[in-house]
Amino acid sequence: MSKVIVIGGGAAGAVAAIFAARNGHRVELFEKNEKIGKKLFITGKGRCNVTNAGDMDALFDAVKSNPKFLYSAFYSFTNEQAMDFFEELGVRLKVERGNRVFPESDHSSDIIHALKHELERLGVEIHFCTEVKDVLVEHEKFTGVVLKNGKKVSGDACVVATGGISYASTGSTGDGYRFAEKTGHKVTELYPSLVPMEVKEWYAKELQGLSLRNVRGTILDGKKKLYDEFGEMLFTHYGVSGPIIISASSVVGKKLQDKELTLQIDLKPALSREQLDQRVLRDFEENKNKQFKNAVDKLFPAKLKPIMIELSGISPEKKVNEISKEERLCFVDLIKNFKMTLTGLRSYNEAIITKGGVSVKDIDPGTMESKKVSGLYFAGEVLDLDALTGGFNLQIAWSTGYLAGISIQ
Ligand SMILES: Cc1cc2nc3c(=O)[nH]c(=O)nc-3n(C[C@H](O)[C@H](O)[C@H](O)COP(=O)(O)OP(=O)(O)OC[C@H]3O[C@@H](n4cnc5c(N)ncnc54)[C@H](O)[C@@H]3O)c2cc1C
Repeated sequence: MSKVIVIGGGAAGAVAAIFAARNGHRVELFEKNEKIGKKLFITGKGRCNVTNAGDMDALFDAVKSNPKFLYSAFYSFTNEQAMDFFEELGVRLKVERGNRVFPESDHSSDIIHALKHELERLGVEIHFCTEVKDVLVEHEKFTGVVLKNGKKVSGDACVVATGGISYASTGSTGDGYRFAEKTGHKVTELYPSLVPMEVKEWYAKELQGLSLRNVRGTILDGKKKLYDEFGEMLFTHYGVSGPIIISASSVVGKKLQDKELTLQIDLKPALSREQLDQRVLRDFEENKNKQFKNAVDKLFPAKLKPIMIELSGISPEKKVNEISKEERLCFVDLIKNFKMTLTGLRSYNEAIITKGGVSVKDIDPGTMESKKVSGLYFAGEVLDLDALTGGFNLQIAWSTGYLAGISIQ
């Protein structure tokens, strides 16, 4: 039996502590907050998208950094095992659109309570409001931790599950990166991900609050296509957000740190340019004696109409039957290619995850143990691992937490 120290009572830390304790180890968990799972509480807009019920390929496809590293972790504790784990702890689950799994109650607190009860049942000693300040290593072996109050706590093994640096108010302030660097591990470049983006053009602000469904968003670096997705997006006071934008940030975020990119929205992706032109022609035909500004009501949501009219360059008062073919085709082009300049990502305070982290090159993928310090394990978002939305990031936390927990000797 070893004495195991777990730093962080989030998703990964709780599961690591549970499985180390189920293996008969004496486990002490240190959590700087007054309760466990503060970030878990706000996941999935308070409903907690626990995992994704897709097949293994879908799981690996959704991982955007180092999916191969996760091979052992995902197969050791699959999404199905994660679901069974919670069902066995008394949380009934349901699967929604996109294979997203939620507690049947729609309450993330059910997940947190289940973890807490299991930790207590197993006799894990939880120290709330206790921040770990330092990790101690001697002769490349973990020996203990130092708490903020100066107290030293010795142990045989330690799981660092301190999370990333997004939504720092939940407790994830990047301490694990510091522990990792100090004990000889590389931490890769960090940046916010699954995060909204800022837009240069004046009209984004004018459109704030407008949600567009069934549009195609393409992000370009010059002429090079970096991202292309069909779905829903939203305008905000600073720029753009919503599912396709949030997912895009995971793919184009790094580049957007260095340079501006172009967001191109196809407002009518179901219609080809020719079909859209026919549709516009029909609308013009029906309204041929009206002014342009009164002839396009059916094409756009009310908030978007004045912007599209202004960007079209066609005088709003122009009679529809006076609009030239060239002007009409430019208008069609605008609807298919509504462009905006993306200037940057929003901050960590609005980011669902931190991209980057403890380099997976320094970690054994079969155990989550450091290759540099024996007895020191890393799990969850502190690692250089991240995935798209849909329950995949929590699956990373459950799987790596599990693997660390069961691997401790
Ligand atoms: C708004 C929001 C919504 C999200 N929704 C989803 C979702 O629905 N589905 C999904 O899959 N993912 C979601 N995520 C991502 C998911 O929450 C994270 O990937 C996941 O919580 C990471 O788990 P973790 O255990 O590694 O870190 P965390 O959950 O962040 O836990 C880390 C814990 O460590 C503690 N800690 C840190 N430093 C110390 C220290 N020095 N001493 C003691 N304790 C310390 C912190 O207080 C914290 O409790 C969401 C994220 C956000 C911000």
